[in-house]
Amino acid sequence: MLQTVDVGELSAAAYRSVVPDEIMDPLLDVARRLRGARVLHLSATPYGGGVSELLRSAVPLYNDLGIAATWRIISGTPPFFSVTKKLHNALQGASTPITAEERALYEQTARQNAAELAAEDDFARYDFVFVHDPQPIAIPSFLDAGDASWIWRCHIDTAEPNPQVWDYLRPFLAPYDATVFTMAQFAPPDLEAGRVDIMPPAIDPLSPKNMSLDDRTAQAVLNWIGIEPHRPLVTQVSRFDPWKDPLGVIEAYRMVRPSVPGLQLAMVGSMALDDPEAWDIYRAISVATKDEEDIHLFTNLTGVGNVEVNAFQRMSSVMVQKSIREGFGLVVSEALWKGTPIVAGRAGGIPLQVADGQGGVLVDSVAGCAEALAALLADPARAAGLAASGHERVRRHFLLPRLLLDELVLLEGLAR
Ligand code: UDP
Repeated sequence: MLQTVDVGELSAAAYRSVVPDEIMDPLLDVARRLRGARVLHLSATPYGGGVSELLRSAVPLYNDLGIAATWRIISGTPPFFSVTKKLHNALQGASTPITAEERALYEQTARQNAAELAAEDDFARYDFVFVHDPQPIAIPSFLDAGDASWIWRCHIDTAEPNPQVWDYLRPFLAPYDATVFTMAQFAPPDLEAGRVDIMPPAIDPLSPKNMSLDDRTAQAVLNWIGIEPHRPLVTQVSRFDPWKDPLGVIEAYRMVRPSVPGLQLAMVGSMALDDPEAWDIYRAISVATKDEEDIHLFTNLTGVGNVEVNAFQRMSSVMVQKSIREGFGLVVSEALWKGTPIVAGRAGGIPLQVADGQGGVLVDSVAGCAEALAALLADPARAAGLAASGHERVRRHFLLPRLLLDELVLLEGLAR
């Protein structure tokens, strides 16, 4: 059964206090023109990872703007999500082929979800359907797409997909009216879909993860889970995924630790419904760090939720995001929004956020990561300057209303 995700309520007016008028004014105008439209967002998981983070805030904001938005989660078995994780990895360039059996399971699940959707009374009433990432991509191939415009919203780096897997998935894009990528270079060169739009994602400055939190509260939150907030702290917040290079972060930390007395490392990772690899990586990290009391491992399943992530991103001396491949990396904007500098892998959408010496330092290796961490930890004035410029860059480009504006402009174009 597809699941509908319950979301809260948001007020577009509240964003005026943080988002520039050049974004809010056109957003309200285009929303007025689309008032009454019905939008369905289809994705694979209600928690864990950037897509669910985005939709949890975007869907209520659509509704407050007068556009009826619903968020549904496709249904699938654990073996289906193992296949889709393989597809995800292959689209980011991994060479593992997918077998005939895996393709059959993938298509059978898409067919089942399509049949369920088509049988629902509400389905025919949607004007627009956003399909997020590869997990649900095949669904419109197995139903009568009706009058709705279908949009494939790809959040991952598909610039150099595994050719076998891309050849397999590309025909499923035929029913779509538009495709959306985070950066122009992510659109595979032979894409057949009619329109390609480029929109970087964005963070919600008012969500519990990103709202302001005073230092005393943030320190108390961290203290309670075993971090000493008055000692230096470096943190990576990420799904446990090889592309986020958690073992590389640990190696870099070990290189820096001798020169920074008392330095702590926190690895905060979430487990997502559609990410079966995460547990293996979690175990590998636990084993690799079991005798090091200043390396702390946390997950969303052991009580580290949005407010704790907020506190980590606010109170860390430096955040790290050592991605090797990355769609966008919401965590980068999240850290910068809180005035914390970042050392981040030069991958995918990260340089959009950390650019021209704004926000932090881009790195290409473990040694580079260690060097940049040591330099920022030793020079708090430089670190603070980078963080301030990063915060302003996020305010202008990576807050949720800017993303909604881009999306609504696309929908208006499709409606013509
Ligand atoms: N996240 C979280 N808890 C964790 C790890 C990650 O809440 O333990 C959130 C993180 O704050 C961010 C999202 O999950 O909002 C990850 O999004 P990002 O774009 O950085 O990476 P993705 O997981 O989509 O590859």
